[in-house]
Amino acid sequence: MSKASLPTEPRRWRMYIGGRFTDGSGQTLMTRKSPGHGTPVAQWPAGTAEDAQAAGIAARQAFDRGPWPRLSAGERSTLLFKVADLIEQHADELGLIECLETGKPIAQARGEVRGAVDIWRFAAGAARSMAGETLNNLGDRVLALVLREPIGVVGVITPWNFPFFILAERLPFILAAGCTAVVKPAESTSGTTLRLAELLHEAGLPEGVVNVVSGLGSVVGQALLDSPQVDMISVTGSTATGRKAIAASAGNIKKLGLELGGKNPHIVFADADLDDAADGVAFGMAFNAGQCCVGGSRLVVARSVAEAFVAKLAEKLQRIRVGDPLDESTQVGALFDGAHMDKVLGYIQRGVEGGARVVCGGGRTGSADGFFVQPTLLADVPADAALLRDEIFGPVLAVQPFDSDDEAIALANDTEYGLSASIWTRDLNRAMRTMREVKAGRVWINTTLDNGPETPLGGMKQSGLGREAGLAGIEEYTELKTAHLNLQPRVRWLG
Ligand code: NAD
Repeated sequence: MSKASLPTEPRRWRMYIGGRFTDGSGQTLMTRKSPGHGTPVAQWPAGTAEDAQAAGIAARQAFDRGPWPRLSAGERSTLLFKVADLIEQHADELGLIECLETGKPIAQARGEVRGAVDIWRFAAGAARSMAGETLNNLGDRVLALVLREPIGVVGVITPWNFPFFILAERLPFILAAGCTAVVKPAESTSGTTLRLAELLHEAGLPEGVVNVVSGLGSVVGQALLDSPQVDMISVTGSTATGRKAIAASAGNIKKLGLELGGKNPHIVFADADLDDAADGVAFGMAFNAGQCCVGGSRLVVARSVAEAFVAKLAEKLQRIRVGDPLDESTQVGALFDGAHMDKVLGYIQRGVEGGARVVCGGGRTGSADGFFVQPTLLADVPADAALLRDEIFGPVLAVQPFDSDDEAIALANDTEYGLSASIWTRDLNRAMRTMREVKAGRVWINTTLDNGPETPLGGMKQSGLGREAGLAGIEEYTELKTAHLNLQPRVRWLG
């Protein structure tokens, strides 16, 4: 493994449209500084609406006339395995790019790239399982076939918190289904997506099958939402951006896949292994500096153990190693930019002004060149506080004590979101009952943030629409077509 260090000058990227690397039609470059160091690390073009349109046309032609949707699943699978191998060969490089642009710890970033390789391999294998149905039970006269077809051109809009991993939860499934794509990475963290474009090119993906346009959501993203060339949009981002996708779809009736925000509870019952639970809750709230859509941001804890549990948790939170993302021993790196850090600190400050009590953390830490925030635990939080309602997206956890199982479930569900929940108890029946009652797309029992490419993920309520990963993750990018075949002489309507 090469020793990771800051670059002496920003790495210069180009977009990928119709099989060619290009600066596009604009004149402007966007520069990304490492949020952990303040040093410029990357530059890419600020793509224009015309670039998005050119990419949409390239993807449309590749779908309508190109070889990709017409290959056998086995042939597509072979190419996707090749991509996975290339990602694996460049895992250290990709991990470093991700670390420098997002501020996450280098060891975690490499782990995410390895996780992405696993997802690409799962999707490569699963490509061959995509099948329709035959209905042979409709009587002598009719045989029906249900074909599963790729939906077409998919616009993929991704966020800054897990740029490479989240793309891996979508793009190989899109390709496995036989679709083509235009990818719009977050404007702040586009490097690994642009590097992936180079690897796709090297693997021999036919031109136009994947296009990558960097730039602003309001320009490139919006152009994809509005594009007549695009059949489906997959947005991973805030609920506000999801609403924009829904609004655009009112005009053009695109299919939407939306993976949006969360306000996820950890429910800790009195009978839980409190040491394990404290460790899990600490990990769930602080992983990726709390910038994790499925991370726990509310601690719903039995009142009888609340005080002891909060003390245990605070002790653990203060031991988390927050600091330089390039340091191999760092557990939590920087927040992704200064404005976001100010927003997180503002939530803490307003919470305290409204009566909440800081149990631990509460402010900045580490080098002043980076945007580091202490893991923060807040108790005595008023029921109407924004700390309990809004997705803060930082290492901030708010305590909500409960007196009965019913109250625990009611508190867990008292949110407009429904992305994930973690349940901590030794009582199996209680775990199962709670799991069934909680409205969330992912539930963990005596663990948190586990995942794998076999298991579908997505949100209920305002956390989204549709599912990614698993076999459902391929079906998401397909449509069903039903064909009825008449097998008998026609019984004529007009004789
Ligand atoms: P964001 O909504 O600001 O941006 C996400 C993407 O949408 C970016 O690429 C952005 O450029 C683009 N975008 C913004 N405005 C747009 C517009 N008008 N039209 C089209 N595209 C537009 O979100 P973010 O701040 O990058 O990411 C954090 C959010 O993502 C959090 O809310 C988090 O919960 C959510 N998230 C959800 C999941 C999930 O699986 N549910 C996973 C990761 C992140």
